[in-house]
Amino acid sequence: MRFQISVLPGDGIGPEVTTEAVRVLEAVGQKFGHTFQLTEDLVGGISIDKHGTALKAETAEMCRRSHALLFGAVGGPKWDDPESNVRPEDGLLAIRKAMGLWANLRPVKVYKFLENAGPLKPEVVRGVDIMVLRELTGGLYFAKPKKRWTTSRGRRGVDTLKYEEREIERILRAGFELARGRKKKLTSVDKANVLETSRLWRQIAIELAPEYPDVAIDHMLVDNCAMQLVQNPSQFDVIVSENTFGDILSDEAAVLAGSMGMLPSASLSGVPDASGKRRARGMYEPIHGSAPDIAGQGKANPLAAILSTGLMLRYSLGLIQEAECIEQAVDQVLKGGIYTPDLTEPGKPSINTSKMGKTVVEAVLDN
Ligand code: NAD
Repeated sequence: MRFQISVLPGDGIGPEVTTEAVRVLEAVGQKFGHTFQLTEDLVGGISIDKHGTALKAETAEMCRRSHALLFGAVGGPKWDDPESNVRPEDGLLAIRKAMGLWANLRPVKVYKFLENAGPLKPEVVRGVDIMVLRELTGGLYFAKPKKRWTTSRGRRGVDTLKYEEREIERILRAGFELARGRKKKLTSVDKANVLETSRLWRQIAIELAPEYPDVAIDHMLVDNCAMQLVQNPSQFDVIVSENTFGDILSDEAAVLAGSMGMLPSASLSGVPDASGKRRARGMYEPIHGSAPDIAGQGKANPLAAILSTGLMLRYSLGLIQEAECIEQAVDQVLKGGIYTPDLTEPGKPSINTSKMGKTVVEAVLDN
């Protein structure tokens, strides 16, 4: 098969990790007989330097027309001036808008060798494999009115929490479909004891559930979910939530993994199905930033970017077997005790970014 993929490496370690992700993608193409037509362009600070904008309109259009986008990271101290009217992050928001991305997926898997790396006890995080699904374009972050003003009795501010049925339904359907492709358990998170939008959310979740009889759904209040994520995280399979709750819960869940360099993400514009037949256009990126402190030193862990490529194969290209091949290759490399510096204790042996990419490529081709 033939696919159009846009590649925007961005700033800092973005280009370093994206290079390795592309290398792994090409190995998958070679192994399974697919052609990935890759078109690379600038985004973020490097685009501001060259074009005066974080994302050119032509680049946004290129992303919109491709099957999927591989994204590195944007930002860095050079572009941090608060007075500046262009910022690297503008590029991210412009892409989300151009591609119509409304669902954010963050898988969090705790690898055995990283059980001790995070702040929680190893017996608590052992076996954790969660997918956090967050609604990305609605709710408190976008609805109007949204403003600050001064009154005779002091300053005031308002944000609006508003959801339409269609927005809730599509993200819940995405949750059910994702659960179908995993352990078939969906936890729908809301604050239905207080918020009207959450009551609507829960009502729609209950109405949709009979369409997915193979998925067990439970409803959890967001405060309880925040607690359960640190007390008993292995109970979760797929967690689905609205924008603000999802933003907070996905960062909380990320801490369980023990390393930023291991966490991929996807942002989708549709609901893919578990079999890979229905696909969604999407953007795939590691959750970490541009890490200016280690950029250019070969210290960056490319596995989050490589695993993001696996998500792309699964959800945008419908290539499930190929996605599993990448996931197994990463597992195999880590089980072999091959680590980048962020995964080892100081003084212990480690390999650099490109050697890690090469090692995963070898594992892909050998499997
Ligand atoms: P960061 O994720 O870039 O780095 C945090 C820490 O984790 C650093 O010590 C870094 O060295 C380490 N780290 C991150 N990724 C790593 C990897 N793959 N391998 C090894 N170590 C890794 O977060 P930050 O320092 O808060 O932000 C740096 C810049 O990135 C800022 O300009 C920020 O705005 C931007 N940022 C961009 C995105 C994005 O593009 N989506 C996301 C977060 C931050």
